Amino acid sequence: MIEMDKRINLTGFSQIELVSFIEQTGEPAYRGRQIFAALQHRRLQSFAEMSDLPRALRERLQETASTSTLTVESRYLSEDGTRRFLMKTHDNLPVETVFIPEQHRDTICFSSQSGCPLQCTFCLTAQLGLLRSLTPGEIVEQVIIALNDAYGVGETSPRGTNLVGMGAGEPFLNFDSLMKALRIMADPQGLFIVPHRVTVSTAGVVPRIRELATIPDRPNLAVSLAAPTNEMRNELMPINKKWPLEELLGACQEFEQTLKAGERFTFEYVMLDGVNDSDEQARQLANLLNRHDLHARVNLIPHNPADPLPYQPSPATRVEMFKSILESKGVRAFVRRPRGRDIFAACGQLAAVTQTVGLTAS
Ligand code: SAH
Repeated sequence: MIEMDKRINLTGFSQIELVSFIEQTGEPAYRGRQIFAALQHRRLQSFAEMSDLPRALRERLQETASTSTLTVESRYLSEDGTRRFLMKTHDNLPVETVFIPEQHRDTICFSSQSGCPLQCTFCLTAQLGLLRSLTPGEIVEQVIIALNDAYGVGETSPRGTNLVGMGAGEPFLNFDSLMKALRIMADPQGLFIVPHRVTVSTAGVVPRIRELATIPDRPNLAVSLAAPTNEMRNELMPINKKWPLEELLGACQEFEQTLKAGERFTFEYVMLDGVNDSDEQARQLANLLNRHDLHARVNLIPHNPADPLPYQPSPATRVEMFKSILESKGVRAFVRRPRGRDIFAACGQLAAVTQTVGLTAS
């Protein structure tokens, strides 16, 4: 029997919402601001730790509100320093988050859904199907948990934090919760991770790309292509049947035209050995982007293999050749180095895999 938590999750409240929630309980507004800072700046995960609040208030809040709804089930540490957190929601669904330390900054890769409804054939998450979309609070809490684990509760990180919405799920099929979570995390009195530190990746939900083009405070955008023709993309990413390449790239072009200084827009192209990595396909890809007058860089991601997936990563020499063909046609390209492959933490490997390798005591 699963214990359903019916209490309201304050981690998913903006500062304004938290203030009005607290005022409705008859408390002064400053208590709301205090609780927002406790959750989002001091990253406290229980009322018990908020010792600057009167005990009676804490006990009263405890009955109707919660400060944490995710529990960490296991934590895996890669030999490259990447950490994968396998968590559970209050209704017992898997949520995965990856912390990737880099020299000058850290990147936290969060999930927008438990499982994923898209059926990309090269991605392990697809095999879970969609369990459900995550709430704003569940998105924010992933970041809080990862930062607390890396640096200690509330401790500031010595490096900047970047966020990528590239974990499990399709962020643009959970657009409102995603945008709300990003606004909460951008608050200077909270986590203070501003939109230009965030990149959200979509498999190509065209209406939301168009919508993002009209939003001023928006994250950077990445669009997953994986194929240079509709025929191949239909096969690898069935979402292409709904929004085929011309429509997708038309929306991308509209988006690119609204880019402001400092904003980034990229394409992702997973490299599958012998499937989408030929010289001819590189030329097709370059022509496609040039025809749509797109200047965004292409990130080439060597496929991260997993047992049930019928693909192998393209060899490094093939990836380099593909890259140089793109470049010879004026398309900027960059080869992404996989992180955390050994602990199933790399792109497309999040499928709530439990293992004994890399498992650490938390
Ligand atoms: N649904 C979103 C975000 C999650 S996937 C999207 O599709 O963009 C994040 C990135 O990982 C995508 O670019 C996807 O193409 C890539 N990816 C998926 N499976 C992969 C795998 N097995 N190896 C390498 N990259 C993969």
